[in-house]
Amino acid sequence: MHLTDFDVVVVGAGFYGATMAERVASQLGCSVCVIDRRHHVGGNAYSEVDAESGVEVHRYGTHIFHTNSELVWSHLQRFTSFTDYRHRVITVARGRVYSMPINLATISAAFGRHMTPQEASAVIAAEAGAAGQSRALNLEDKAVGSIGRTLYDLLIRGYTQKQWQTDPKDLSADIISRLPVRMTYNDRYFSDRFEGMPSRGYTAVFQQMLKHPKIDVRLGVDFFDVAESLRPRQLVIYTGPIDRFFGYRCGLLGWRTVELERQVHDVADFQGTAVINYADEEVPFTRIHEFKHLHPEREHALAKTTIYREYSRFAGREDEPYYPINTQADKRIMESYKIMMAAHPNVIFGGRLGSYKYLDMHQAIGAALKTFEHQVRPFLAGAGMRERVAVND
Ligand code: UDP
Repeated sequence: MHLTDFDVVVVGAGFYGATMAERVASQLGCSVCVIDRRHHVGGNAYSEVDAESGVEVHRYGTHIFHTNSELVWSHLQRFTSFTDYRHRVITVARGRVYSMPINLATISAAFGRHMTPQEASAVIAAEAGAAGQSRALNLEDKAVGSIGRTLYDLLIRGYTQKQWQTDPKDLSADIISRLPVRMTYNDRYFSDRFEGMPSRGYTAVFQQMLKHPKIDVRLGVDFFDVAESLRPRQLVIYTGPIDRFFGYRCGLLGWRTVELERQVHDVADFQGTAVINYADEEVPFTRIHEFKHLHPEREHALAKTTIYREYSRFAGREDEPYYPINTQADKRIMESYKIMMAAHPNVIFGGRLGSYKYLDMHQAIGAALKTFEHQVRPFLAGAGMRERVAVND
């Protein structure tokens, strides 16, 4: 089948694209072609078994599924069951170990003594001082205002500097708002109601989503090599980088990328947990992933383990974009692209890359479900009407 024969073309086989493709096929009975320039489905959530260790790894870094949305959670149950994995993160700073996100254990360890919730709150409030009162717009002010200088300098400043290579005063406070601060010993990384790992891995979820007979998946296909051949009014769900869609005419949006350095070790356990963050600026990597710990329920026959060391840097045009930086300049560029989008009523822009938003997996799925109902369903119903009218004529 030629691309023009499909009712919908989905560009990108990540969570946004796969969710949309599945809905279009299963709910509307329309045909969908999903193209992706990579040679695998799943976007950055892609997972595969490392042949050397037998451990399922996340090639683009650890992905933990969590959501507060009943809708998203129940939607995913159609394609996978979840384990009861609960994510916990350790941060190493100046040779010591701290629990992350910041909780009573972290605060007591950082100040070297046991503290009650009231004592910890008082110590932090005293340090946060005036910063805590102001409406902080940048990451540093927001962090110091909520956790004080000591914790900020120990656990946040170096890590943030390494991850973003941008002065924390120039970063949006939203980035740090993702992390809770708890005056309890609750050390779970996520606060959401639902959490777990897909029992048979992420790639199996995508295969399940995309197996509908009305969906055709074409890998290793770059949208920009085929864009010319599409029908003028053909519905396109575009989840690639937004600036690339417009030929970078209003400028390049800033992204961070990560480099993951793989190592296989001849030990059953390398670090004792799935993710350890390294807060010190002198340590060149931001964290170490050990994927085996994401599935403690699995039997691993080999006394081997795969780890990835993660290094963060600015993304050039050829790099995989991971995190939108979203400086003031980026925001202005994005405004211009938003205006240009209006000239493409048959293109829906979505996903982390297509919307230039730091979306988590559950947010990408939630956004796709919503857009499907509010835009895609009416658009395709309208197209069907027009075709029927034309046929009747
Ligand atoms: N962060 C930090 N120290 C940590 C963990 C996180 O300073 O040990 C800050 C950092 O600025 C980071 C932000 O919190 O960019 C969000 O962290 P998160 O773990 O949510 O990032 P992700 O897992 O998406 O890379």
